[in-house]
Amino acid sequence: MGGNNVHEHLELLRALQDLDHELNSIRQERSKLEQEQVELTDAMVRIQTMVDGLDEEIGQLQSQNDELERGLAQEEANISRSEGRLPEIKTQKEYLAVLKEIDTAKKVNKDLQAQFEGKQSQIAELNAEKDEKLKQLAELKECSVERETEISKSLKAFDETLGKIASQRSTHFDPLPKQMQKRYALLMERRGGVAVVEARDGTCTGCHMHLPPQLFNSLFLDPQIQCCPHCNRLLFVVEAEA
Ligand SMILES: [Zn+2]
Repeated sequence: MGGNNVHEHLELLRALQDLDHELNSIRQERSKLEQEQVELTDAMVRIQTMVDGLDEEIGQLQSQNDELERGLAQEEANISRSEGRLPEIKTQKEYLAVLKEIDTAKKVNKDLQAQFEGKQSQIAELNAEKDEKLKQLAELKECSVERETEISKSLKAFDETLGKIASQRSTHFDPLPKQMQKRYALLMERRGGVAVVEARDGTCTGCHMHLPPQLFNSLFLDPQIQCCPHCNRLLFVVEAEA
């Protein structure tokens, strides 16, 4: 392996690392937007669930009231039937008994009527609550539509950029020897996404530890890629040109 090759490889590695940093930051931005998308949908689903719950409750109360209305009609019929019988009654005992029947039926009716009215006002309250939720939902949908359009546009743009960078990346990554590709990938993974660092003033700028002087000096002379003995990152030097 000639010195020229080493220089080339280091250049490729440095450019590769820059591209990987760019890829990472775009991916992070992208996933933030995806998260926002999920949250928008979740918020709408939450309100819709409340609306559905209210609908169910209203439906139950409504069918209870239908039942009560039937009961009321029946009692009304009983009352008029009993009242119709009164003129034909012969004995006082029977007369009193029918009056008592009418009185009881009227009491039952009054009770049913009170229940019916109670449920009606509960239904009205729930309907008001439901309208409020539907209004919230409509507002949320309106602003979500705009935001979602923005988000999909941004996601598309991100994907295009990611595609471009990924193909640029392979023009830097593919020419590297397999061994170096593996080493780079491993360092990126284990060293917080920084695999290639500058050695400056006898120090590794990756871990800020001093390098053995002969190692540091060899970076300017030796045609091979050296790594920091402390953090294993690959080292390069920038030769001062006076
Ligand atoms: Zn180091």
